Amino acid sequence: MDDNPQHLLHSIFGYEAFRDQQADIIDHLLAGGDALVLMPTGGGKSLCYQIPAIMRPGVGVVISPLIALMQDQVMALQQLGIKAQALHSGMDWQTQQLVEQQVVNGELQLLYVSPERFLMPRNLTLLKAAKISLLAIDEAHCVSQWGHDFRPEYLQLDCLKQLFPQVPRVALTATADGPTQTEMVKRLHLHQAEQFISSFDRPNIRYRILQKQQGKQQLLRFIQTQHQDSAGIVYCGSRKKVDELAQWLSQEGIPALPYHAGMSAEHRSQNQARFLQQDGLVMVATIAFGMGIDKPNVRFVAHMDLPKSIESYYQETGRAGRDGLPADAWMVYGLQDVVWLRQRLMESTMDEAIKRSEQTKLDAMLGLCEVTSCRRRSLLAYFDEQLAQDCGNCDNCLEPVATFDGTEVARKALSCVYRSGQRFGVSHLVDILLGKPTDKVKQVGHDRLSTFAIGQELDQKQWRSVFRQLLAQGFIASDPGTYGGIKLMPKCRALLKGEEPLQLRLDQKVSSKSGKKQRTPVAVADLGLWQALREQRMALAEAQAVPPYVIFSDATLLAMIENKPQNLIQMSHIPGVGEKKLDRYGETFLAVIAAS
Ligand code: ADP
Ligand code: ZN
Repeated sequence: MDDNPQHLLHSIFGYEAFRDQQADIIDHLLAGGDALVLMPTGGGKSLCYQIPAIMRPGVGVVISPLIALMQDQVMALQQLGIKAQALHSGMDWQTQQLVEQQVVNGELQLLYVSPERFLMPRNLTLLKAAKISLLAIDEAHCVSQWGHDFRPEYLQLDCLKQLFPQVPRVALTATADGPTQTEMVKRLHLHQAEQFISSFDRPNIRYRILQKQQGKQQLLRFIQTQHQDSAGIVYCGSRKKVDELAQWLSQEGIPALPYHAGMSAEHRSQNQARFLQQDGLVMVATIAFGMGIDKPNVRFVAHMDLPKSIESYYQETGRAGRDGLPADAWMVYGLQDVVWLRQRLMESTMDEAIKRSEQTKLDAMLGLCEVTSCRRRSLLAYFDEQLAQDCGNCDNCLEPVATFDGTEVARKALSCVYRSGQRFGVSHLVDILLGKPTDKVKQVGHDRLSTFAIGQELDQKQWRSVFRQLLAQGFIASDPGTYGGIKLMPKCRALLKGEEPLQLRLDQKVSSKSGKKQRTPVAVADLGLWQALREQRMALAEAQAVPPYVIFSDATLLAMIENKPQNLIQMSHIPGVGEKKLDRYGETFLAVIAAS
């Protein structure tokens, strides 16, 4: 029987069971209801509208913001034997007409369109004449003017309810926060819609935030020891840094490509295409890269510079591990990041209210960097979600952080700032504390300060760490008026007077032994088969000009390695092997497994 979601899940998609709320959402849409679906990246949003679209009479129309995303989805659906097409301006006229004809004839199960295309009178006329099974608004947070992905055309989707009053509408997003949610309901007229809100946790992502020492070397070691041969994204704060780092990684034997807004559109899309198509490439990029990157097997996201808010951090790290397999969110962060970001904010000509809100967001981000307890708990708490227990899959859980009573050293640091006139940078202040008679120290007579040489219990790195934490916690600030000189903030008064103790994080030496294991999800004995399966997948993908993960996901290949099916029946039990794919690829992959 084909009129049962569970059966379709198995026969078409090759999966055993629905996850979390998928079944409820599908039932609700099948019954003709509207829905608002908030689910984290990789949670399985697409199935929620694809299955009802297949089951209800007519074509399911999916409004999606990016052509690349649409094409991926369409190719993936066609691989499953579903009649899906896209309509967008990048297609030649003839193909567009062909697709339109298919819509008129009722031959399609799913149609993907961009919002601007959807709103064109020609298209509305076409859809009014056709039978529509449901309307899905993907990446629905694009209606929010406050978010990072605002798309003005999305605002015009407020007409959907009026134009298609009988058609169930579902809006989907992975963006969590309350204001965006309210905005979606309001803009898309979803007041009657049932809300399906999942946990935003991404349990397969391991969060790590390290003290930056020699960032490049740390990154190289991280990739070499844990992610040799994996696809990853490395975010940098500037275009120049992107170019340099991509080149340097390549020289060091890690295949890497750059991506930033300063490159030509052609070069950019070329690099993006290579990243999607090939296994094991590292994309070094500014935040210009990412929206609509649907590649499911990105194994790590690394940050070489601090993002400006937890929202950005969560969104960027969220591009790792969409397939649910283990993935890393890795970041190095140091004193310079804090100084630089704070300063940039102070110098900016933004409206005061916006500036203050940016400041608060940055502070929250810094708080996450400095926190000594479970990072996932702090992250989720920021999005108003409480985790019942520590996660066991972040650096602070895996290697508990040592703290020390920093009251005394903090007071020394603060008083050194004060006595030297609140206009010198951290390096100079540390020289004074350590009693280093450098030329500059002598020149300004700071070797005669009462704070000269009072800090010999710590070394230079440790003092920098103390200043970083004081900065992050807002006891001190860097002053653009004195080119980054450190000044005291009102908050430090209680600390100076000795009214308040201060716990500080004891930064570990970077070369700790932990986490040296390769995070490739395959046992060493199976590496040969893993390679062979990936090569087979690549060959099939190239022959059809589709991305490899459209053929089979990594999770499916890994299940083949684990179960080593020997015939088609056994192969059909592998998750992700539906009827169509069993037909087309079953024998081919059985042969690869048999030959191993
Ligand atoms: P999202 O759009 O929420 O980021 P996707 O819809 O792309 O997530 O799904 C992520 C991955 O999980 C895909 O590979 C998808 O095939 C898989 N998936 C979705 N639902 C299930 C399920 N019930 N069982 C197994 N895998 C699933
Ligand atoms: Zn944790």
